[in-house]
Amino acid sequence: MKPEQSLIFEISRPGRAAYSLPECDVPAEDSLDALIPAELLRKQPAALPEVSEVDVIRHFTALSRRNFGVDNGFYPLGSCTMKYNPKINEDVARFPGFAKIHPYQPEESIQGALELMHTLQSDLAALTGMDAVSLQPAAGAHGEWTGLMMIRAYHESCGEVRTKVIVPDSSHGTNPASASAAGLTTVTIPSNEQGMVDLEALKNAVGSDTAALMLTNPSTLGLFETQIVEIARIVHEAGGLLYYDGANSNAIMGITRPGDMGFDVVHLNLHKTMSTPHGGGGPGAGPVGVKAKLAPFLPGPTVVKSEDGSFTLQAGGPQSIGRVKAYYGNFGILVRAYTYIRTYGPDGLREVSENAVLNANYMLHRLAPHFEAPYPGICKHEFVLSGKNLKPYGVRTLDVAKRLLDFGYHPPTVYFPLNVEECIMIEPTETESKETLDGFIETMIRIVQEAKDTPEIVLNAPHTTEISRLDETQAARRPVLNCSCG
Ligand SMILES: *Cc1c(COP(=O)(O)O)cnc(C)c1O
Repeated sequence: MKPEQSLIFEISRPGRAAYSLPECDVPAEDSLDALIPAELLRKQPAALPEVSEVDVIRHFTALSRRNFGVDNGFYPLGSCTMKYNPKINEDVARFPGFAKIHPYQPEESIQGALELMHTLQSDLAALTGMDAVSLQPAAGAHGEWTGLMMIRAYHESCGEVRTKVIVPDSSHGTNPASASAAGLTTVTIPSNEQGMVDLEALKNAVGSDTAALMLTNPSTLGLFETQIVEIARIVHEAGGLLYYDGANSNAIMGITRPGDMGFDVVHLNLHKTMSTPHGGGGPGAGPVGVKAKLAPFLPGPTVVKSEDGSFTLQAGGPQSIGRVKAYYGNFGILVRAYTYIRTYGPDGLREVSENAVLNANYMLHRLAPHFEAPYPGICKHEFVLSGKNLKPYGVRTLDVAKRLLDFGYHPPTVYFPLNVEECIMIEPTETESKETLDGFIETMIRIVQEAKDTPEIVLNAPHTTEISRLDETQAARRPVLNCSCG
């Protein structure tokens, strides 16, 4: 280990410091020590590392270099992909007029922020084909839960007890989890040979207890449900509603809208589709949009425009499911999404989707001969391959993913969706150059060749990373994070 990469407690030396403070001139009786009850005061100074400024800067810089992010290299994760994060969006979110306002400020002093939220509500409604939007939910799963709570409240207001949420087997894991958090139960239906919703299975599953069908279209297999209008008819005829998981909307912007497909509720992950770096689990924004009949159930407050042109916060009405987040949602992320939409404009958003789909199809077309392509034909913004053809050589999809690390790539999502054996899910995104796509494709082809010729290279990968293969279960369940792991 190079000295600058050593653990910060090991380079600690008594008396070293990265700061110097002036002599304290606060009289002892006014000091914090005098104000805090004695039993709450530390008896010993905290055991913190004592290091110089140079040491501490090198330590954190070294740590940051061990991270992988979109600013380091290609990151074709699939579904939850970190997509394009224009740097200007970061600048705008840091404008003092946005970053320094306080949620308790009077409305007349935050008209700009309220106008931004109002415009974003209408833009998202227009983009999804919905009638009303709440910006409150803080994540995709939170948006799902909010949407399902509204669906529940809607059925209750009609005097009906409907408790079942139908999800296809390719659905994102948050869908059944949100249904159960909303007090509903899930019914999983299998996909057909083409990876689409099996209409017969759907017809058998719907009934007087159906609250909703949750669907993402294109699905997590990257396939567009061509029968969506028929699917919507089946669910609506049974009295259920349609929920659109729009976490990843990079395939449809400006081309089609969930509202036009027959969906009643939708959430968007602004932190996936409309920028915002979200490594480490946050922050996010998962606004929900609804058709007019569900608008009374939206959480409040929403922003409304008064007749005099000013903007005000309007609390939820008597049927509202209530607040789902403190204050007004994750405002900084709303600013980034607003900037994203304004920068691209309607035609630009459509181009984003067209390029996302083009890049994915280029990759699928070139990689399909080297793996198994369970759903050949046209994909949308992402696609799945199966590594089943490598099994005879003792190599599995996980090994391919690990080998990619040696070539400096973040591996794609593997073993999801669950209905594809040895699944590899790839989303190249719209912003990657042809050279980057080609480089990744050639690396994948090389790994397939290695699997056949010298499988041990793939089986023992990664070879170039600081830490080689982990026991991932133990690493997640019993992480050892200190330096005495020897
Ligand atoms: C990421 C994702 C979610 C969940 O979003 P979070 O913000 O992580 O809660 C739901 N559905 C799909 C299809 C996703 O890709």
